Amino acid sequence: MEFKQEHKLIRDLAAKFADQELTDDVLDAAEETGCLDLDIVRKMGEAGFFGIKTPKEYGGAGGDHVSYVIVMEEIAKRSAVASVFVSSPNSLCGAPIQLSGTPDQKEKYLSKIATGELTFCFGLTEPGAGSDAGGTKTTAVLDGDEWVLNGRKTFITGAPIADYSIIYAKTDLTAKGSAGITAFIVDLKSEGVSFGKPEEKMGIIGCPTSDIVLENVRVPKENMLGKEGKGFTNAMKTLDVGRIGIAAQSIGIAQAALDEAVKFAKERVQFGRPIAKLQGISFKIARMAAKLEAAKLLVYEAAAAKDRGEDASKICSMAKYFCSETCNEIVYDALQVHGGYGYIKDYKIERLYRDARITSIYEGTSEIQLLVIGSQLLK
Ligand SMILES: Cc1cc2nc3c(=O)[nH]c(=O)nc-3n(C[C@H](O)[C@H](O)[C@H](O)COP(=O)(O)OP(=O)(O)OC[C@H]3O[C@@H](n4cnc5c(N)ncnc54)[C@H](O)[C@@H]3O)c2cc1C
Repeated sequence: MEFKQEHKLIRDLAAKFADQELTDDVLDAAEETGCLDLDIVRKMGEAGFFGIKTPKEYGGAGGDHVSYVIVMEEIAKRSAVASVFVSSPNSLCGAPIQLSGTPDQKEKYLSKIATGELTFCFGLTEPGAGSDAGGTKTTAVLDGDEWVLNGRKTFITGAPIADYSIIYAKTDLTAKGSAGITAFIVDLKSEGVSFGKPEEKMGIIGCPTSDIVLENVRVPKENMLGKEGKGFTNAMKTLDVGRIGIAAQSIGIAQAALDEAVKFAKERVQFGRPIAKLQGISFKIARMAAKLEAAKLLVYEAAAAKDRGEDASKICSMAKYFCSETCNEIVYDALQVHGGYGYIKDYKIERLYRDARITSIYEGTSEIQLLVIGSQLLK
């Protein structure tokens, strides 16, 4: 695919940032402490990575989805965890406000999200409402000029370090299924907000994840986001953007795994020659590279479809499904090329293998992507 000059420039900028700032020491420390150095996070904000798609009038770069995908890919090549910090403000946390915010809400929050001054998280999932996100049990009841929220959100990326959360809650308690859900902007310092323990995760360690518990949390009326009862639509449209971000994260991780496999195969000698000379290994690497190239084209096309203003939910789900599954196949094979060394933490492939696993789970599992694709093809 031929990229425009602006896309080449942003790729170079992201790659340079990743090389300079996301050093091995920084990434090792993130795994040890459970949180990426917030100074590095601040620098990512200053570099403009948090407001790639945010309109210029709200302090963002006013870029397109292709630019977003490119930055995600380049940062994820170096660190999946750092790419989570890029994805949140651009998609799950910025998009709900861009999609449904009032001019005042956009003015108040978007520019600060774009610079990293304010950190948001996205509270959709609940203990009993994962893939079936419409099964939200969190409630919001109007009392005078305030909504009173009660419920529990689970697995919320960045919750322990966020200032605000988008919270989806049922406002029409009689409505069935996903109807009657409304989105709110909730200040996480409000009385009645508490957090579960930071989860001990398999991968993407360095981006803390926890539950958010809401007990009689009073939210001012003006913090309702979008129309009453239209929260589920807001969440689903937000996830369209989120899904190409995760697809891009997947191809970044997969590229890093392929690079590691190629390097190792050329260096490792068995049976008197580098294992790269064995057809069993070279075919494996060739297959990985071919699959990765196809995955890249799909995510770039999904991003371009969004930039053309098309209804892109099917292709976004295809990209999320194909890129995340392909990423997991590639890290598996790349680790296999490393033999026993791949199982040892000293080798980069060990972390890539763990980081890859989440891509086919969060922001809609692979099965849910297939449901979306199938339902559109068969309607
Ligand atoms: C590290 C991490 C970070 C996360 N960050 C966030 C966040 O920031 N905000 C947020 O709101 N959520 C977040 N999530 C939640 C994530 O989006 C959910 O875990 C995911 O959507 C799946 O929901 P679940 O875990 O409840 O699994 P379940 O829905 O219980 O699914 C279990 C299995 O059943 C399958 N399944 C379910 N329904 C169907 C169906 N109809 N047809 C076929 N198969 C089906 C699933 O694909 C899966 O394989 C995060 C999760 C993790 C692990």
